[in-house]
Amino acid sequence: MSALPAGRHFFRGDDGYEAARSGTVWNQRVPARHPEVIVQATEVDDIVKSLRYAKANGRKVNIRSGGHSWAANHLRDDALLLDVSRIDHAEIDAEKGTARVGPGKGGSILMGELEAQNLFFPAGHCKGVCLGGYLLQGGYGWNSRVWGLACENVIGLDVVTADGEQIYCDADNHPDLYWAARGAGPGFFAVVTSFHLKLYPRPAACGTAVYVYPIELADEIYTWARNVSAEVDRRVEMQIVASRSVPSMNLETPAITFASPAFADSEKEAEEVLKIFGTVPVVDKALVNIPYMPTDMPTWYTAVMSNYLADYRYAADNMWTSASADDLLPGIHNIIDTIPDHPSHFLWLNWGPSPQRPDMAYSIEDEVYLALYGAWKNEADDGKYGDWARSNMAAMSHLATGIQLADENLGQRPARFASDDAMVRLDKTRAEYDPDGLFNSWMGRL
Ligand SMILES: Cc1cc2nc3c(=O)[nH]c(=O)nc-3n(C[C@H](O)[C@H](O)[C@H](O)COP(=O)(O)OP(=O)(O)OC[C@H]3O[C@@H](n4cnc5c(N)ncnc54)[C@H](O)[C@@H]3O)c2cc1C
Repeated sequence: MSALPAGRHFFRGDDGYEAARSGTVWNQRVPARHPEVIVQATEVDDIVKSLRYAKANGRKVNIRSGGHSWAANHLRDDALLLDVSRIDHAEIDAEKGTARVGPGKGGSILMGELEAQNLFFPAGHCKGVCLGGYLLQGGYGWNSRVWGLACENVIGLDVVTADGEQIYCDADNHPDLYWAARGAGPGFFAVVTSFHLKLYPRPAACGTAVYVYPIELADEIYTWARNVSAEVDRRVEMQIVASRSVPSMNLETPAITFASPAFADSEKEAEEVLKIFGTVPVVDKALVNIPYMPTDMPTWYTAVMSNYLADYRYAADNMWTSASADDLLPGIHNIIDTIPDHPSHFLWLNWGPSPQRPDMAYSIEDEVYLALYGAWKNEADDGKYGDWARSNMAAMSHLATGIQLADENLGQRPARFASDDAMVRLDKTRAEYDPDGLFNSWMGRL
């Protein structure tokens, strides 16, 4: 007898199973990995029942919130898949500056609700990404260079442990589990049912600078970017995107786009900190040159989503680095020479220098973040484009400090994503909270 939640689970072979399985993956490249049963949980009791069922029947467990893991980490053969996307509550306490949110809450949806109350949170840059996976892996979000990674702003979590116990963890209660929940990402070993978040006042101004350059200027652009990286004001998110075309600007030729928001106390202040983009030595060769324009979050979400179109097949990979421009440029040339058509792109994010972070599982970062997002439409092209991101990052791995779990591709390329000490503590904490290995772990590790 199945003790699973009635009507909301699908065994392999059931009607509705394939729709439930492929519907959990945002990427159109749905891996051929098949859980034995998928449970669509709507309340905590469904989770408790599912974990008991899995334990009794010798099934491992995976969890899915927004399904935006590029690698579809949650799809594993023969496992029980807990789809918690329907657990998407958000209770905002404006007076205390806190919120309690479900893992299935979309980051951009939360942002809309917060902004209506003049509040803010470093949620992710894209629509659709849910807080479940995003907060567990770290979370590089809006104004994160000032407010820190999103996970630094998780003050507590409600979780269901492997033995079906519902517990609250924070700095004082189950501190090891709280430590692990801020960085373990797709290797976390409990089910999060709520995150308790610290909120911020909404910044008075969100200004933006946009410059687009012909790709032939790559050497000048990346050398400048690397040289100024330590000087970029922390209110500025310096993102550089290389792609084969820029449809949002009606440009059909390969280009390098700077599109950078600055969150500040006034328009004047935002305009001031964005002036750094006027110091690019080839600024007079820019195809688009907008030193400053006032913006807002809806405009930004639309702009970012033009590089993450739905209905594409994606493969991503990434690395942290503090290598010099001279060392990075050969690899960058290879990337831009081989980049598939838009929306495939190469992201350079200026991140450092890193401030002191709290002690948490998230423990690797560096001055510059490089990420590759390969995108294509047809399954027949999987062989042609599917390895572009991995192979280019593998070729530059001698220059990497490690990777970020946000854009992990660990099943294809195991890489270092936490410090050695953090890995030891993660393993120890897992052994304590999930001694029988009920939860599947990362798809690869070094
Ligand atoms: C278009 C796009 C844009 C992105 N932009 C950003 C960005 O701006 N900044 C950034 O930092 N990252 C970004 N990411 C990466 C994203 O944050 C991660 O892929 C994240 O894991 C997605 O969260 P999710 O809940 O949507 O995904 P899921 O695929 O549901 O979750 C990923 C993994 O997290 C674990 N998990 C999820 N929910 C739970 C839970 N409730 N309890 C326990 N474990 C759980 C599972 O192991 C799961 O496999 C982006 C990804 C995409 C596809």
